[in-house]
Amino acid sequence: MTRPYNFAPGPATLPEEVLAQAAAEMLDWRGSGMSVMEMSHRGKEFVSICAQAEADLRELLAVPANFKILFMQGGALAENAIVPLNLSRGGTMDFVVTGSWSQKSQKEARKYGSVNIAASNEGDQHTSMPSPSSWRLSRDATYVHLCSNETVHGVEFHELPDLKALGSDAPLVIDFSSHVLSRSIDWSRVGLAFGGAQKNIGPAGVTLVIVRDDLLGHALPHCPTAFDYQVVADNGSMYNTPPTYGIYIAGLVFQWLKRQGGVAAIEQINIAKAELLYGCLDESGWYVNRVAPNCRSRMNVPFFLPDDRLYEPFLAEAKARGLLSLKGHKSVGGLRASIYNAMPIEGVRALVAFLKDFQARHG
Ligand code: PMP
Repeated sequence: MTRPYNFAPGPATLPEEVLAQAAAEMLDWRGSGMSVMEMSHRGKEFVSICAQAEADLRELLAVPANFKILFMQGGALAENAIVPLNLSRGGTMDFVVTGSWSQKSQKEARKYGSVNIAASNEGDQHTSMPSPSSWRLSRDATYVHLCSNETVHGVEFHELPDLKALGSDAPLVIDFSSHVLSRSIDWSRVGLAFGGAQKNIGPAGVTLVIVRDDLLGHALPHCPTAFDYQVVADNGSMYNTPPTYGIYIAGLVFQWLKRQGGVAAIEQINIAKAELLYGCLDESGWYVNRVAPNCRSRMNVPFFLPDDRLYEPFLAEAKARGLLSLKGHKSVGGLRASIYNAMPIEGVRALVAFLKDFQARHG
């Protein structure tokens, strides 16, 4: 039986090989007599699983030695509070708003300090990228936050800003939930990166934080101990019980990604997939993607039909063809195809063939 192609924004499709391996290891992980779910997080088996996952991730993303990798919980939305609790020192935080996720982040941060909106693309419904040279950065910001890929609006930073060149000494914080591991990261421009796992990493429940050493140890006094990055780092992500099964699956995904040739190789495939899909939409003269071409996301592709009455048949026919979860986010409407690392190019080809066929019959 071939599995359908799942274009969900997250939780999202996982590599079939990973699911098969997890199934094979479910009852007895490598002769231990235990499922990974049943292991003590402090036992040698799970400690080795976690250490391998961390080492593979460090290698895949070329994370420098002066950054800690933390496996936390609470999702990216909890990080909207945990980051200011650790980094704001009660001062000013700069935010660049490019879509609904960065919008949510700045709203939450207001509970912990003052927020300066350095730039926003709200005026054009989050379809463009405010040029870094136009950002109004504060002189004394404790950090600058942006969402490097807006999952709902389909807007992506194809290059991270060089804050120093823009006159800011503040560390850059990025929410990379929906494109982590899809492309390389220039760590010289980043102080902290965070993301939920449920798109390119593994199951929901794991939150990844990668943080530069000098940003540890500044938590506000009322920061919950379990969310103090210094405490989490000092305890190897095991101050409290970590999401063990999620970390195990993430580790299998990292090994799968290494077998694909790593991030550089998957980035080339992601570029090819995005070109295929955007090319089809643009050439159709019928489907519409409203995002400016210079900031179109390689991961999340929102698009619209010319007639609202066509959405229902579109989704029903797509489902019948084995193309799942193409409904757009409720705040934007329309359709959205999320084409993360685990979506094979054959899935995008199948979607493109369906788009052409549907247009031929309804256009
Ligand atoms: N940020 C981004 C960019 C996201 O895509 C999401 C989830 N779709 C979130 C934050 C929220 O993540 P969570 O539900 O894991 O808190």
